[in-house]
Amino acid sequence: MAEAGSFAEKVKQQADIVRVVGEYVPLKKAGQNFRGLCPFHAEKTPSFNVHPTKQIYHCFGCGQGGDVFKFVMEMEKCAFPEAIRIVAEKCGIAVPRQKERSPEERKENQQRSVLVEMHREAQTFFVKQLEGTLEGQAARAYLEDRGLDKEAISRFGIGYAPSGGDALLRHLKSKYNEKLLVESGLVSRDQSAGRLFDRFRRRITFPISNESGKIVAFGARALGDDMPKYLNSPETPIYSKSNVLYHMDRAKEGIRRQDFAILVEGYMDAIAVARAGISNVVASCGTSLAEPQIKLLGRFTRRVVVNYDPDTAGQTATERSLSLLLEQDFEVRVLALPPVGDKKADPDLFIRERGKDEYLKLLKEAPPYVDYLIARARQMDLTTGEGKQRALNFLLPYIQKIPNGILRSEWATRIAQQLRIEEPLLRSALSKAAKERRSEIQTRPELIGRAAKPVERRLIRMLAEAEGFRQELATHLQNAHLYHGLETEKIFAALVIASLSGQPLQAPEVGALLEERDRRLFFEILFEEANEPTWEEAMSCIEALQHRQAERELADVQRSIEANPSAPELRGLLEKKQELMRRLAAAR
Ligand SMILES: [Zn+2]
Repeated sequence: MAEAGSFAEKVKQQADIVRVVGEYVPLKKAGQNFRGLCPFHAEKTPSFNVHPTKQIYHCFGCGQGGDVFKFVMEMEKCAFPEAIRIVAEKCGIAVPRQKERSPEERKENQQRSVLVEMHREAQTFFVKQLEGTLEGQAARAYLEDRGLDKEAISRFGIGYAPSGGDALLRHLKSKYNEKLLVESGLVSRDQSAGRLFDRFRRRITFPISNESGKIVAFGARALGDDMPKYLNSPETPIYSKSNVLYHMDRAKEGIRRQDFAILVEGYMDAIAVARAGISNVVASCGTSLAEPQIKLLGRFTRRVVVNYDPDTAGQTATERSLSLLLEQDFEVRVLALPPVGDKKADPDLFIRERGKDEYLKLLKEAPPYVDYLIARARQMDLTTGEGKQRALNFLLPYIQKIPNGILRSEWATRIAQQLRIEEPLLRSALSKAAKERRSEIQTRPELIGRAAKPVERRLIRMLAEAEGFRQELATHLQNAHLYHGLETEKIFAALVIASLSGQPLQAPEVGALLEERDRRLFFEILFEEANEPTWEEAMSCIEALQHRQAERELADVQRSIEANPSAPELRGLLEKKQELMRRLAAAR
């Protein structure tokens, strides 16, 4: 993947995979490797390994593996050039500008940075509209009414999109072409007339930044009764709603430090909580949480307090988000705020009316999700058998998603007590659910578990590691066609080519040449405990392979003999058989 002498190669040589991966996954030293919980699949016991000297990672659970760039590409969902840049930045290596690998990549990167620049300009424009225009005054009054003063407005970059319909368009038109304007999502095209106009009109704007703090989208709230009340940027090359959490760029430090995050629904809620001095808050900016957002959160903490709106949509969103978080093995608590007067309270309203101390107090007392769910189930009619069944059906999917068996069992007891359901009934429903869970796991893509004989594994490991005699060994294997027809043939072929090149062997690069199944097996072998390779051991492995090869040939010859060949052919086959049997006898 990384060409010799390229910037990627340089970064790779200097980057420490343990440090880079360690920023995403807590790692512990285990023998010569480092180990942690796999970020790519949910697990309780660590099967994710990082090899400090070979500079690779491998998960024995789900089979994910590769080098430091592959890891960053997977975690950040980015392309190769972006991964190089991220790794370089993490390791303090200066990044040369405009060094993309292909014309398409250069074009894509250029387009992305132009789109980011457009958003920066739009942001300046919106802020000016709020501050300095007559129309902006109404918006300022609205914000003031919501308790947002000048300080808050500037801290969160709140702006205003005027009602004209083409104010931003006119502002940007001189610098950017139509295609880019539409691609940015800031401008829309009238489907029938083909005319361009501003996407956001007569709305208060909230800049949405990605994790590294670059504005990539806007959320906008209608000032009047325009529908929809909230309007977001569409999906663009720099923004995908399911990948971004509002306020993440500023919350991540606090989340890491306090080891939990508060999850709210909208930007107004996030702003209200952050203004109360609670920095570890993020908003999903949509009714329910998407899996990439959970992965993003999971890089900083596994503990979440969900504080969604108490309306029905909020409740459904809470429950859907809970399911997803549970599947990813998060520890989840639910903060359901009590009504303020006769109004149902979202975090924004609650903090304005009751103050930050009251909010903090409730935050501390927020119950584990199961108590929240039981409370919800108890609102159902539990006086009849049918009612109880309904409550149970409501709860089971959540319980089923808890990966930890002991915890699952504890909750079962608790639910049985609280809902007055006979425990055996509940247990049988649970174990049925557990079976379904197991079958789900079984249908996951096939894992490694392929039969490679110990001698093949050992030789592969030696080819990857034996600095002293790698080339000799490779020559030997190649000349005698020793690995042809083996399960591991492709791995051998890649290793032999790499060894004969005379360059130092790079395990991740060999891995990159292999198909997924072969790469998994190769990495698995690299992570096995093993002794220093010796030439004697290599020779005895080769003898074993020769023996197996002779056995295979003998079986072939025998089949041909039994296939009723012509007389001259048969003579040749019999001679061959004699010869092979002599060889096998001599080897014994
Ligand atoms: Zn895994």
